[in-house]
Amino acid sequence: MSNSTPSERLATIEAEIRAFAEAHLVDPPCVGGGDEVFWREGWNRCAAEGIIAGPLPAEWGGRDQGLLATIVSMETLGTTCPDLGLLFSINAHLWACSIPILSFGTDEQKRRWLPGLADGSSIGGHGATEPNAGSDIFSMTSTAVRDGDEWVLDGHKNFVANGPVADVFVVYATTDPGLGELGVTAFIVERDRPGLVVSKPLEKVGLRSSPTGTITMNDCRIPVGNMLGSEGGGSACFNCSMEWERGSILAMHIGSMERQLKDAIAHVRSRRQFNRAIGSFQSVANRIVDMKVRIDAARPLVRRIGELKDSGRNAMLESAVAKLFVSEAAVASGLDAMQVHGARGYLSENRVDVELRDALGARIYSGTNDLQRVMIARLLGLPSSLVGGD
Ligand SMILES: Cc1cc2nc3c(=O)[nH]c(=O)nc-3n(C[C@H](O)[C@H](O)[C@H](O)COP(=O)(O)OP(=O)(O)OC[C@H]3O[C@@H](n4cnc5c(N)ncnc54)[C@H](O)[C@@H]3O)c2cc1C
Repeated sequence: MSNSTPSERLATIEAEIRAFAEAHLVDPPCVGGGDEVFWREGWNRCAAEGIIAGPLPAEWGGRDQGLLATIVSMETLGTTCPDLGLLFSINAHLWACSIPILSFGTDEQKRRWLPGLADGSSIGGHGATEPNAGSDIFSMTSTAVRDGDEWVLDGHKNFVANGPVADVFVVYATTDPGLGELGVTAFIVERDRPGLVVSKPLEKVGLRSSPTGTITMNDCRIPVGNMLGSEGGGSACFNCSMEWERGSILAMHIGSMERQLKDAIAHVRSRRQFNRAIGSFQSVANRIVDMKVRIDAARPLVRRIGELKDSGRNAMLESAVAKLFVSEAAVASGLDAMQVHGARGYLSENRVDVELRDALGARIYSGTNDLQRVMIARLLGLPSSLVGGD
């Protein structure tokens, strides 16, 4: 392994992850059908394989694997593990909790929280979105007020991925409402802090086995040592976590698009109408071709983020581009898969709908695709539409 080239190293990782997933992740208790639950046993299996530790440094219990190798692992898991909700939970944990603590935490904070997050014994989530602060995230009104050796948090967070099962959250609140974005600060809040209430899982259209909830902070007191980064530095922490998350979280959809394509090809080769396989009809074949082209266009966009981050470079523009393209590709792929299956694709029992429903969320989470377009335009030097407002 030590003398191998980077591409040989990635091929080895891919082969190892595929073997692991084929042995341990093909039998989630429930995918599709409506009664999906978080698959803790699947989480534990991924943790034991080191998947949850992948991008973290060995010093903090990680595997020092880098982002590109993690992305390749996620792609591979997406081809094999039908439970995208589980993979989504792993991604949310990594990019919105572990990476901010790694990037902004003090050594003491890293020592305290990263080993548990790396070995999967502790599940992470993050609370940024609020009822009145979604795309306009820094208009949040949750507050943090210093009281001696403590911060006192009050407010309500929506759509917290992993919320119902998480042990530790990165939560954003304003320490100075008058400063807007510059008043937002990040905090590490453990689930068992008095004053923190976590809801039951919300019913979602897709990614149903990844539990999403709300968290309410009511006079929730945490030690001053739980502030993450600097006071007023929350936007840098949030933007860093979104830069990692936006592209990387889509890697699993590339894998699932591959799986969809394989199933769709098998179907159009075997299903016969007008005395021939439906794959011989040009309009059916075109859908298959489009599915293939999307996968091949999507993969390098996501891997490029891994290469940039692994070499210490900024990937804000590239992660917005990847997020926008891959999420739209995943939805289009789901629609094409359903169409080539005809009415069979529309029956829940055949589960062709599951990946489509899972993909729909990707156009919304990590910042909607409209906002990715706004960001890309701004990063290309166009004037911003987000200044001022009515
Ligand atoms: C599966 C899932 C998991 C999530 N996990 C988390 C999590 O773990 N933690 C967390 O904090 N949040 C999470 N979210 C919330 C997510 O980040 C927000 O839903 C998202 O940022 C959009 O906010 P909103 O839903 O309030 O929509 P809104 O901001 O109300 O937007 C509604 C519509 O208006 C459009 N719009 C708004 N402003 C503009 C503009 N300036 N230009 C163009 N169009 C605009 C949007 O694109 C969208 O179509 C999750 C969401 C989903 C679906």
